[in-house]
Amino acid sequence: MDEPSPRTETMDEPPATLIAGPCSAETREQVLETALQLASIGVTHYRASLWKPRTRPGSFEGVGLSGLAWLQEVRQRTHMQVGTELCLPEQAQPLIDGGIDFIWLGARTVSSPHTIDRIAEALRGSSISVFVKNPISPDTSLWLGAIERLKARGVDRVSAVLRGCTPVQPTRLRNYPHWTMATQLKQLYSDRFAGEQISVLLDPSHIAGDAQLVESICMAGRLYPIDGWMIETHAHPTEAWTDAAQQLTPQQLQRLIDRLYHTAPGEEDLLAPLRYQMQDLDDMIIDLLSERQTIARQIGLFKRKHGLTPFQESAYRASAHRYAYRAAEVGLESSFALQLYELIHQSSVRLQQAMMQQTPTEELPRQE
Ligand code: PEP
Ligand code: MN
Repeated sequence: MDEPSPRTETMDEPPATLIAGPCSAETREQVLETALQLASIGVTHYRASLWKPRTRPGSFEGVGLSGLAWLQEVRQRTHMQVGTELCLPEQAQPLIDGGIDFIWLGARTVSSPHTIDRIAEALRGSSISVFVKNPISPDTSLWLGAIERLKARGVDRVSAVLRGCTPVQPTRLRNYPHWTMATQLKQLYSDRFAGEQISVLLDPSHIAGDAQLVESICMAGRLYPIDGWMIETHAHPTEAWTDAAQQLTPQQLQRLIDRLYHTAPGEEDLLAPLRYQMQDLDDMIIDLLSERQTIARQIGLFKRKHGLTPFQESAYRASAHRYAYRAAEVGLESSFALQLYELIHQSSVRLQQAMMQQTPTEELPRQE
């Protein structure tokens, strides 16, 4: 493995913190190889999780303290600051004694006030830098609460990281960005701590869940008060033991850094994430229409069994009225909603008319 060569061209001193490194520390070789490549492109803060809180049991949960020596070696050989995720109070002292420069508290941990209290107690009076990720739900108070619990124990070097929240419906992005949480947190923090400011980093990797979408999330983040980035980077992303789909190679990170530091975002950069959200909503509309068709088919079975006609004037009128009323309630034009209903309704009637011609092999599901 080569030692990092000094950078030949000068990059503007980044105005923001950039933390990069793999999702998990897997082996000494993987930690070192990724770190040396990152150091050679000018990264100053290296991350790798020793512990991995997994949603479900049975997958890789981190190498634990045995990987501490690898991070120490990275620190000694590259002079980068090194950090890892802290999940439990008993992990605090070995990390502090081991010379770890920064830790972060993950989204799942931040969602648990008692755990945060114990971690804050274990860190009491420490000058280690702590990055607090937002909780998995879009609850800015819970996020602030974790920060307050740390500050109440004299842990003062605290920053925040926006990593998005679990979406209600599956979407193109792994986590919904909830950009305004960054603005809200800054305001709440400043109100709570007499005008003091807190830095908020952006973690585009966990928002995107896909390496190809990381750049557009970073670009969109420029519309919000973001003070830096935490970006998952792995020398061989496709072989990563965790979060393989979302990690960049150091070369990809370098191109992204160059764009972030040296290029103003284009209109497309800012529009792309909005387009993903729009496409997700369009997908949901299609899914809902398909679900609606399933119900229309069940109604068709009932009508066939009881000799009713597909078109029923009173049900049609009641639904049309509901569409117009509901649309107006949420700021849509009633006439647009009525046209939409007309199309949807006609499609159901056509389906049921076709069913009337068929031999009744399909039975109406029994109501429990
Ligand atoms: C991570 O940074 O690797 C991680 C697991 O983050 P989060 O807590 O945001 O899911
Ligand atoms: Mn990860």
